[in-house]
Amino acid sequence: MRALFLLFLLALAAAAQDATVLKPARVFDGETSHEGWAVRVRGNRIEAAGPAASIDIANAKVIDLAGATLLPGLVEGHSHILLHPYNETPWNDQVMHEGLALRAARAVNHLRVTLLAGFTTVRDLGTEGAGYADVELKQAVNQGIVPGPRVLASTRAIVATGSYAPKGFALEFRVPQGAEEADGIDSLTRVVRDQIGHGADWIKLYGDYRWGVGPGARPTFSLDEMKLAVETAKSAGVPVAVHSSTPEGMRRAILAGAETIEHGDDGTPEVFKLMVEHNVALCPTLAAGDATSQYAGWKKGQGPEPRGITRKKASFKAALDAGVTILSGSDVGVFSHGDNARELEMMVEYGMTPVNALKSATSIAGRVLHMEIGTVKAGMLADLIAVDGDPTKEIAALRRVKFVMKNGTTYK
Ligand SMILES: [Zn+2]
Repeated sequence: MRALFLLFLLALAAAAQDATVLKPARVFDGETSHEGWAVRVRGNRIEAAGPAASIDIANAKVIDLAGATLLPGLVEGHSHILLHPYNETPWNDQVMHEGLALRAARAVNHLRVTLLAGFTTVRDLGTEGAGYADVELKQAVNQGIVPGPRVLASTRAIVATGSYAPKGFALEFRVPQGAEEADGIDSLTRVVRDQIGHGADWIKLYGDYRWGVGPGARPTFSLDEMKLAVETAKSAGVPVAVHSSTPEGMRRAILAGAETIEHGDDGTPEVFKLMVEHNVALCPTLAAGDATSQYAGWKKGQGPEPRGITRKKASFKAALDAGVTILSGSDVGVFSHGDNARELEMMVEYGMTPVNALKSATSIAGRVLHMEIGTVKAGMLADLIAVDGDPTKEIAALRRVKFVMKNGTTYK
């Protein structure tokens, strides 16, 4: 009996000590900034957030973050954790010459640097030839084997037969593709279900790609095929993301019920209006285009701007003007993991306010991804970071990460 009582007291003490109080200069709660706020965390949840004087510090470990802004852990809406920068190794060679274990070994490093850069959640949109490794890496993170962000996996992603890559081999060879081919009622239904069965949190479809009569992208799946994929995924509660840059590919994705559109490079005001009407979010991936243009020889700020960049700036502005919901997503993997803040910097460079860019990677991201993250308020998951300075005034402050907590555990 006495032993039981002692255990009870020990449990009480453990529960009391479990709390942590974070005292930054200010808190950006996912919507607005509050000077002089503090946040109390217990277990893996935020217990309280408000003016420092109102936050109980009794029995809590207090972490002083003087001069820093505390904000929700950032969300990367579009990553490829199994790719590394194309100026190191072109995509084709990664897919064709780098084996699964090699790619997974790199990905472990990618996950760690992403987390330490303050990105506590990634939606990974396709392993690009690395099978279901994203699901297993997610398991490794969740089991505490390697440090990393929360991972939303989409496994192999789905392309229409003949539309994707690698290309350029002798035509009698059937070359393994960077995503899984499927078409029509039978195979598309089966592949969507199979990927969900393998652990896909999101289904990723390629709604257009560079194929057929070029140059440029052409639609791939028909509207009926996309509807079928969305309906099939919906039964399992799995949302669909569609890669699309052409107005027709985007239009089909919107009408089919996709929840996000990736890239949207050639989006028109009409298509963006349709996105707003159907509550579809855009993941603009500005940083990827910026990176590939520079790999192709463009020196930023020198010489004529590449057509792709001019086009991207114009379509991003049209999306903002139309009031499209923007989910911050960079296509990282094309460029270095851990450099994810580049997307937020570019959103500001292309016309967004720093606060709106931050919302795209926090509160809006939490909503679009259907997760209890992205907002600093009682009850939310304790994914919190602190950066030196004030990113609502200077977005580059996101580069100065001094504290990272995910799910109540401190990593930095
Ligand atoms: Zn991508």
